Amino acid sequence: MIKGAMAKNNSSSGATILEIQRLSTEDGPGIRTTIFFKGCPLRCAWCQNPESISIRPQLQWMDTTCIGCGTCIDVCPEDALSSGPEGIIIDRHLCTSCGMCSRECPSAAMKMLGKTWGLEKLVAEVVKDRVYFEKSGGGITLSGGEPTMQANFTALLLKNLKKEGIHTALDTSGQCAQDVLGTLLPYVDMVLYDIKEIDPDRHREFTGVSNEKILDNLVYLCRYMETHETPADLWIRTPVIPGAKAAGSCAPSTTSAAANTSVLIWTGHSKTAPS
Ligand code: SF4
Ligand code: SF4
Repeated sequence: MIKGAMAKNNSSSGATILEIQRLSTEDGPGIRTTIFFKGCPLRCAWCQNPESISIRPQLQWMDTTCIGCGTCIDVCPEDALSSGPEGIIIDRHLCTSCGMCSRECPSAAMKMLGKTWGLEKLVAEVVKDRVYFEKSGGGITLSGGEPTMQANFTALLLKNLKKEGIHTALDTSGQCAQDVLGTLLPYVDMVLYDIKEIDPDRHREFTGVSNEKILDNLVYLCRYMETHETPADLWIRTPVIPGAKAAGSCAPSTTSAAANTSVLIWTGHSKTAPS
């Protein structure tokens, strides 16, 4: 098991969000707003967003914009910052992520990655683009990181978005407890399900965990879709990483695994199993 991988946020009142991306066209149908949650249970060798791994907000220092004024060191209440030959040193054991240094930095060289959002404010923020969703057949996608790691908040957010009449998509690796998935699905119109690798040994090698739970949850999801109105659509996605795997080997094995569940794959807006 990955050290620290089980750290979760069970709060219903707030979630750590890395980024809210508007006008997204790759995270489901139409024009969407994608909410990237912080916290990920996988450690993919090819990860392009390591800042999304920790569930906590994190401090980032950028040497290219730092003017060396020392303000951040002076204002830090925890004495977590010091100056070294290569610039500002952050003692992450002392840092409490209070954000004071970031707020006081005159050149935006100290930046907090991730912000805690309350439910009401987040809903109000993301429904601003409702007109784009309605015109394009889009909606809101919860992604990450892994949104199921902050499941209580994610469930409430989805529920509120459904009340607003907005199409919802859940982008998940499936690396979560089955009951967590079951809690979210009633409020999800579509699932984007990431399968990184079918071979269990290679999956562990590339991501740090077995794919057993992920494949079990995929079967559970498909059975759920057979007996419920929502989710109506499922997109199974697999990354093609040169050196780690090739399109020729991974895509067919993923399709084959999906077909072996005796259900699958739904596309478009109707539940139609492939022939
Ligand atoms: S975030 Fe707060 S505790 Fe952490 S280094 Fe900055 S001022 Fe210090
Ligand atoms: S306050 Fe900002 S600009 Fe000044 S030393 Fe710290 S990081 Fe650099």
